[in-house]
Amino acid sequence: MENEKVRCLIIGSGPAGYTAAIYAGRAGLNPVLYEGIQPGGQLTSTTDIENFPGYPLGTSGIMMMEDFREQAERFGADIRQGIATAADLSASPYRITIDDGSVIEAESVIIATGATAKYLGLPDEEKYAGMGVSACATCDGFFYRGKVVAVVGGGDTACEEAIYLAGLASKVYLIVRKPYLRASQIMQERVAYSENIEVLFEHNAVGLFGEDSVEGVHLVERAGMSDEEEYDLPVDGFFLAIGHKPNSDIFKPYLDTDETGYIITVPGTPRTKIAGVFAAGDVADPDYRQAVTAAASGCKAAIEAERYLSECEYNQKNR
Ligand code: NDP
Repeated sequence: MENEKVRCLIIGSGPAGYTAAIYAGRAGLNPVLYEGIQPGGQLTSTTDIENFPGYPLGTSGIMMMEDFREQAERFGADIRQGIATAADLSASPYRITIDDGSVIEAESVIIATGATAKYLGLPDEEKYAGMGVSACATCDGFFYRGKVVAVVGGGDTACEEAIYLAGLASKVYLIVRKPYLRASQIMQERVAYSENIEVLFEHNAVGLFGEDSVEGVHLVERAGMSDEEEYDLPVDGFFLAIGHKPNSDIFKPYLDTDETGYIITVPGTPRTKIAGVFAAGDVADPDYRQAVTAAASGCKAAIEAERYLSECEYNQKNR
């Protein structure tokens, strides 16, 4: 079977991928988009989205991603189910293998595969997903105004999320497994200055409880030590901040990534070190990770792809 040839291949279907598809479609690039493991991306597992401009009354993550998708299809994007399982970016056209066995030969590639928040792996995290468990304080913190929440983690993200939540919630417990924080000095100081943040060092969350939504967390203090103690802490919200894993594995042999796996692009642009290959959204963004910033970088990636393809065509004609 001959490989399918496309001008612009978009991998991933969060706000970055769909926005890239809207722009690439309008630019006449006939983009093909593969949705990946979680069609719609991380937003489909959050509750309401209230901070995306243009939705004054808020909307659900699922609805918003359906709107994005519909808009991309309106401009001719060919949106397909499928997961990119391998990549060969050694030469143009770039070859991307899909999980149905097909191979796409793409003149330009926009990687918008996102990042996956790490979870502790407790069955209760799934049970209470969207009902008190979240991995994004900026997305969901608003729903915990005046309430009590817990944040798990001791890095910069955990401190940042705890500080953000401290401005909304009445009390924030920071659950840290070690006897110290890994976060930078300045973040540690900010946590220390926040009167309503209490750091629980040497604590592990081992389960959650609650009737319909989270009502508390089962904790173990100094696990494995002679003075180990188990107790329950009542909380209304349980936030994970133990890091994200960017979905960049298949591209790593070809692209520069940081130590966590985020794709490194030319600052301020979605350009990777390979001409015609762009990275947009959370897969290349360790800092902001917002729907609106992802959408903006998807837009940039499509504009860059259009420019790149025009330049290639011009060069071919004038050879
Ligand atoms: P980090 O990897 O720095 O920290 C992860 C934290 O989660 C650590 O405290 C770690 O504990 C804890 N953890 C990991 N797994 C578990 C587990 N299974 N159970 C309990 N705790 C766990 O990730 P971050 O997301 O915080 O930061 C990533 C990068 O982004 C860092 O380089 C950070 O500096 C940067 N960043 C910078 C910001 C800023 O400057 N404003 C804001 C946010 C991130 P342990 O220490 O025991 O390993």
